[in-house]
Amino acid sequence: MITSIVGVEIEYCKGISKGCRNAISTYPEIISNLIDISKNSTWHQRFKIDENLPRKHQILKIGISACPNACAKSQIKDLGFILRSEIGYDESLCINCLECENACKENAISVTEKIVIQKHKCLGCLDCVRACTTGSIFSTQAFFEVLVGGRLGRHPKFATPILKIEPLKIYDFYRYFLGLFDKYPDIYNAKKIIDNLSYEEIEHGYIKK
Ligand code: SF4
Ligand code: SF4
Ligand code: SF4
Repeated sequence: MITSIVGVEIEYCKGISKGCRNAISTYPEIISNLIDISKNSTWHQRFKIDENLPRKHQILKIGISACPNACAKSQIKDLGFILRSEIGYDESLCINCLECENACKENAISVTEKIVIQKHKCLGCLDCVRACTTGSIFSTQAFFEVLVGGRLGRHPKFATPILKIEPLKIYDFYRYFLGLFDKYPDIYNAKKIIDNLSYEEIEHGYIKK
């Protein structure tokens, strides 16, 4: 699903707006709130002076996905968000049924005498949590992974993950991100502005805020 206003196009998956069996969580209000923030940005306002702008390739493209399957193609957007979750466990509840192991497509979890989760393999998808009938494995914290700088076209590349934010901090982060565009009032191409920003600057500037 795609919604847009002048200068900004947001693609989002159905898990965000309506729900999906794979969604880490659903936030039906997020898209309209992000559109409102976009409307109030100087990035959106700057196109009022020239009705021929922006051209399609100049628009800020955003992708918001409610699970690591990333159906909104968050990895090829200027600004991407992917909802994931940290997981925890309580071994005292475990009945060694191995349903979690079988459910994990990443081979990230194994259960013998102990529950072992290989963090570097875990995508935070919650398939194991859904499979566990005893509550031994559970979600401890949902978060948006924030990615910047993805694109197709002549020089395609995947977006770089730069930080994790609590889901409802997405508004704060988006206001902050659009504020960085004010440094370049004469550039009408979101990709060119993003190429001028260092990803460390985006990350550290937001954390210090
Ligand atoms: S990204 Fe995940 S939650 Fe969203 S539609 Fe795709 S599978 Fe469902
Ligand atoms: S959250 Fe997903 S990737 Fe991580 S252990 Fe569970 S099923 Fe595997
Ligand atoms: S699904 Fe739950 S109860 Fe079964 S082995 Fe995994 S953690 Fe233990």
